[in-house]
Amino acid sequence: MKVALHWFRCDLRLSDNTALSLAVAQADAVIPVFIFDPVVLTAPETGAPIVAFMLECLASLEKNIEAAGGRLIFRYGDIETEMSKVLRETDATALYYNRDYEPYARKRDATVEKLARSLGVEVHSAKDGVVHEPEEIVKADGKPYLVFTPFSRAWKLLPKPPVLPVVKFRRPSGLKEPKSLPLPTLEALGFSTELTLPPAGEKAARDRLRQFAFGAALRYASRRNFPAEDSTSRFSPHLRLGTLSPRTVLASVEAVARQNLPARKEIETFVNELIWREFYRHILWHFPQVADSCFKPQYNDLKWENDDRRFAAWCEGRTGYPIVDAGMRQLNTTGWMHNRVRMIVATFLTKDLLVSWQWGERYFMRKLIDADLASNNGGWQWSAGTGTDAQPYFRIFNPTSQALKFDPEGRYIRSYVPEADTLAYPAPIVDHAVQRLKALALFKTK
Ligand SMILES: Cc1cc2nc3c(=O)[nH]c(=O)nc-3n(C[C@H](O)[C@H](O)[C@H](O)COP(=O)(O)OP(=O)(O)OC[C@H]3O[C@@H](n4cnc5c(N)ncnc54)[C@H](O)[C@@H]3O)c2cc1C
Repeated sequence: MKVALHWFRCDLRLSDNTALSLAVAQADAVIPVFIFDPVVLTAPETGAPIVAFMLECLASLEKNIEAAGGRLIFRYGDIETEMSKVLRETDATALYYNRDYEPYARKRDATVEKLARSLGVEVHSAKDGVVHEPEEIVKADGKPYLVFTPFSRAWKLLPKPPVLPVVKFRRPSGLKEPKSLPLPTLEALGFSTELTLPPAGEKAARDRLRQFAFGAALRYASRRNFPAEDSTSRFSPHLRLGTLSPRTVLASVEAVARQNLPARKEIETFVNELIWREFYRHILWHFPQVADSCFKPQYNDLKWENDDRRFAAWCEGRTGYPIVDAGMRQLNTTGWMHNRVRMIVATFLTKDLLVSWQWGERYFMRKLIDADLASNNGGWQWSAGTGTDAQPYFRIFNPTSQALKFDPEGRYIRSYVPEADTLAYPAPIVDHAVQRLKALALFKTK
């Protein structure tokens, strides 16, 4: 009997899961395993919101696996040690997993692969979390694209992998199933949160996909920038943890676009956003140093002011700029923030408060349910003007005109900052016109 392990990580679903489908096709029995990694759980950038959301996705995955005839094994501890134990306890001869593009994950996976091979276990890793991988999209000279538009053109020309069906598990007699811990609580993992999370798990993701594809997707390009509206997909936490695959999303919206020609342009803009997600993954893969430094190295020694009190006011949403405060309060109370507002608050922190983008990046990582190193780092370096294909440093958003343009009736602002029109609301902590000139002078030194 050929027994395989499927190692779940950021692919918490049974449908359209590449490595899992391969394992089920090639082995007589597949044991699904999830290992809680203390290195990730104790990292300073890991926040309660995403861990809480992940636990709910895992609870749902556990039930789905049971309904599909299998049993999900949970372990906690050093990945190499736990993997080695599970491989021995099960007599598995093959290990399957979907590839990850973050620097830590790449190192960890290489170690696990070496370990598995030393035990005589075959290792199969698969492309899954992206439609096209970093090595598939390079320029004619073999170098990575640094600018989004030509990258997206090349991305669109490649054939897309198919969407795969949902899997079923077999548990033949004689299968040695390892011991499993019960799914831990958030508190047991050392976190706590009072957030009300959005619906988690594969079914919730698919419900949202259906709702979006036949609803907001049809007016995405026209309405996506208005934060008061529910006009974006909210797929980000699902794409982050893999309760939804990018292939499935793409196939669904493209099917709608084929049947609804007027919506085609709207949906094209949405597809571009999925491509931005992949662009930043590719950048992180080719240039892992962006995780710790500016993509444009000349900005690494910029003399940021890094004033603690101003940073605290930004974090808590009391800068006196209503759109900035609304965004930060949305983040703090829901674990999510609208993209337009992410750009506004990030530009405000770096260009108005002259605080390093890395402080903001870390804060976002700890607060977002969709916290994602590649997209977050990309978004922050874009806003600060230090990244690849970034907003040029001299194009500085004016938070007041951004609010007038994208929240003209103040509906978004009022929902998070009800006191914005009253005397209880603080005066602006800085003068945008003055700070803008300071930021220009700061960047001009480079
Ligand atoms: C400073 C900053 C920090 C960010 N941090 C994160 C993060 O930690 N995690 C994260 O998933 N996204 C991040 N983004 C990108 C973007 O804001 C979110 O993906 C988006 O707001 C999620 O909402 P949605 O799913 O409704 O997006 P939609 O507008 O419906 O877009 C669909 C999907 O495309 C992807 N996407 C959309 N915009 C971008 C973008 N600019 N860059 C990369 N991918 C994108 C996301 O996966 C998203 O779910 C950040 C952007 C900025 C400016």
